[in-house]
Amino acid sequence: MQISENLKNIRQSLPENVKLIAVSKNHSVSEISEAYHAGQKVFGENKVQELMEKFDKLPSDIEWHLIGHLQTNKVKYIAPIVNWIHSVDSFKLLKTINNEALKHNRQIDCLLQMYIATEETKFGLSLPEVKELLLNPETSTFTNIRIRGLMGMASFTDDKKQVRDEFGSLRNYFNELKQGFFPNNPLFSEISMGMSDDYPIAVEQGSTMVRVGTAIFGQRVY
Ligand SMILES: *Cc1c(COP(=O)(O)O)cnc(C)c1O
Repeated sequence: MQISENLKNIRQSLPENVKLIAVSKNHSVSEISEAYHAGQKVFGENKVQELMEKFDKLPSDIEWHLIGHLQTNKVKYIAPIVNWIHSVDSFKLLKTINNEALKHNRQIDCLLQMYIATEETKFGLSLPEVKELLLNPETSTFTNIRIRGLMGMASFTDDKKQVRDEFGSLRNYFNELKQGFFPNNPLFSEISMGMSDDYPIAVEQGSTMVRVGTAIFGQRVY
């Protein structure tokens, strides 16, 4: 019952235009089922293998989001089942996703992951790298991916001002790229930012997708 209570409280706190992605990594199929029966249809996983196993055991109307770092050699496993990939951090990966999606006659919604934190460990593209990817003439020939927006992760810190500034910088990148590359393309519309500890700040800074795990399912046991 706790899961459905948590979901209800989080949904009530989110504006209507913000999509809640329930991050179910390291949580069981039965916990995901509980969330599903409480009306949650969108789930995020960060590992290819785990997503595949759960996909097979759960209802087919779930929308699956891959949110973790993705290696090009693993794209083929999820291309038939994944709806969104939040962690596109290279041209090569985008091209591979397009090729694999083409084989299955699918379109996969993609977010470009940008580096906004001060920590060394986080994956992601810089603004010049995103521009280079978008200016690559091949990118516009990719028929089986849709570039839907940006994703970013703030630093792991208690400093709320720093987190707010980092999310604000992602929103500014989004606005600049929208103007420069997608002025007439309504599909480029998403900013995926905000996790359990910082999603209220992310929403305040313009997030349209929050990726929340712990606040729904409780602590992960590794
Ligand atoms: C695990 C994870 C989340 C969710 O984290 P919580 O703190 O449990 O809400 C969000 N985004 C990514 C990329 C993750 O790996």
